[in-house]
Amino acid sequence: MKRISVLGSLVFAGSLSIVVMAEQGQQPPQPSVDNITVEKVKENLFVLRGGGGNTAVFVQAKGVTIVDTKNPGWGQPLLDKIKTLTDKPVTTVINTHVHFDHVSGNVVMPASAEIVGHAYTVKNIATPGTVTGLSAGQPNVFKENPGKGLPKRSFSDKLTLGSGADQVDLFHFGPAHTGGDAFVVFRAHGVMHTGDAFQAKALPIMDKNNGGSGVEYPNTIRKALNGVGKVDTIINGHTPAQTTPADMAQFADFMQAFVDHVQAGKKAGKSAEQVAKEWSTPAKFTGFAAAPPIERVMAYVYVIFDETK
Ligand SMILES: [Zn+2]
Repeated sequence: MKRISVLGSLVFAGSLSIVVMAEQGQQPPQPSVDNITVEKVKENLFVLRGGGGNTAVFVQAKGVTIVDTKNPGWGQPLLDKIKTLTDKPVTTVINTHVHFDHVSGNVVMPASAEIVGHAYTVKNIATPGTVTGLSAGQPNVFKENPGKGLPKRSFSDKLTLGSGADQVDLFHFGPAHTGGDAFVVFRAHGVMHTGDAFQAKALPIMDKNNGGSGVEYPNTIRKALNGVGKVDTIINGHTPAQTTPADMAQFADFMQAFVDHVQAGKKAGKSAEQVAKEWSTPAKFTGFAAAPPIERVMAYVYVIFDETK
């Protein structure tokens, strides 16, 4: 029983960990190379965990492509940890979305590195809105480091970088966690990094303030599953283990169940508070976290109410 509750709190604390942990009165771990762990996914492909969202590190012929750069202060420890895996320089940085726990390390990446994101992310990364459902006061490293670490290359639906063993495909399928969610496929390995669009087996943040959507969320996840080609392993935003397309399909069903619950409540004339109180993780979604605190559920109920005419 103890293991289950620890996992539940990890999954919850995993999303925008600084803000959420602060709200819970907890101290997040300090930025340090020793607080970053390495999981090998496939040959030359790793997940570096700790200090924000999961970072994928892909060692290529002439350099390193990384996906997401963690919380403020964690960029340098991340680079130091990458040095324990390879001598090659970071040449490409991909940001899956605008949230600070995925982009703040950008400011210490090599100036020669190309930083890439979806057009929405590139446009809004330095001036994001307050994350829907969380309290204000999220850090913004781009304010303190004007002009540094900003992505310059953008895409709208699909972009392919490199070829052969080095090929990386970026996709966007519409709004979900934010308005600029990128799905990143390491083609030769059949591995996808989903960012927080699939952050964990838990109710995700539906960040309307940053272009996200509740109603579209399950549709976008299904489009991604059907649209990225063959993958067998999924690195997600915060989960401490790799997942599979079957897990992601189950997550799409879970999101659909939430949207259906909220829309049925609205149709029945219930208040947002009532609808939120009546939500609990359906039993058939084994391994999914319990519902987050009521205020957070309510924030997402409001998102779906607004989107349902
Ligand atoms: Zn996020």
